[in-house]
Amino acid sequence: MITRFAPSPTGPLHLGHAYSALTVWDIAAKLGGTALLRIEDTDSTRARTEFEQAIYDDLRWLGLDWPLPVRRQSDHTPDYNRVIEQLAKRQLVFPCSCTRRDIQDAGAVPGVEGLVYPGTCRHRPMNDAQPGDAVRLNISATLQQLDQPITFTELSSGASIRHDIDPDHLFTDIGDTVLIRKNTGDPAYHLACVHDDALQGVTHVVRGMDLWAQTPFQVLLQSIMRWPMQQYHHHPLITDGNGKRLAKIDKSKALSKYRAEGATPDDIRRLVGLPPSSC
Ligand code: GLU
Repeated sequence: MITRFAPSPTGPLHLGHAYSALTVWDIAAKLGGTALLRIEDTDSTRARTEFEQAIYDDLRWLGLDWPLPVRRQSDHTPDYNRVIEQLAKRQLVFPCSCTRRDIQDAGAVPGVEGLVYPGTCRHRPMNDAQPGDAVRLNISATLQQLDQPITFTELSSGASIRHDIDPDHLFTDIGDTVLIRKNTGDPAYHLACVHDDALQGVTHVVRGMDLWAQTPFQVLLQSIMRWPMQQYHHHPLITDGNGKRLAKIDKSKALSKYRAEGATPDDIRRLVGLPPSSC
């Protein structure tokens, strides 16, 4: 059993991250497995090395340990570009020059992750790609090349529940999703995450319910790449006193502040509703 905690170093870790990380390591311990740490720093406009260092410091302080070397996605851009080449050979990706404004003006409707791409550049072959173009997955071509139902297994209820993903949901609510980002050429989260889960032999994806809606697209990408599937455990999100979800953008109190104020790792476990550590 291999699982992972895969934070993006775009801000300080807060209690929600601590809960997620502790849950990852607790489940690995319970199942006699290994928990990996992976740094998902592909967004070159937002990732910062100081936040990466703070992740190592905070997690070590919580008493967590991981095999080295840590995979830092920004060191492996050619891996992700190779996946794009494979998808391009199968005519499953296209270059896209659309701005957000273009997408709005084309009458795009809201979906799971913002507006569903209206297909403006879908006809363009990859050899027409211009510098700065994004690359998107052609969902309908992808669905046509799949000969199996798209499914995943969720374990968070304690039972193993099979979820069948409706192709219409992928087509209508998700659409042609970005795999390479516009202007920066950075690999998008879905591509790097799913590639690395396969590469690192991850068997269990343990992460927050906030990523539940991302799972269908990720499972589609795994299916079309014929990568091994993981089992999923989407854990609940902790909330602040008002029932509001803790998130980096809420400016929730950084974990390092609790540490500076003299809290212990067991205090953090208690704050997020986990039993004290057994060791
Ligand atoms: N890097 C993602 C985030 O920080 C998490 C990815 C995942 O666990 O699948 O939200």
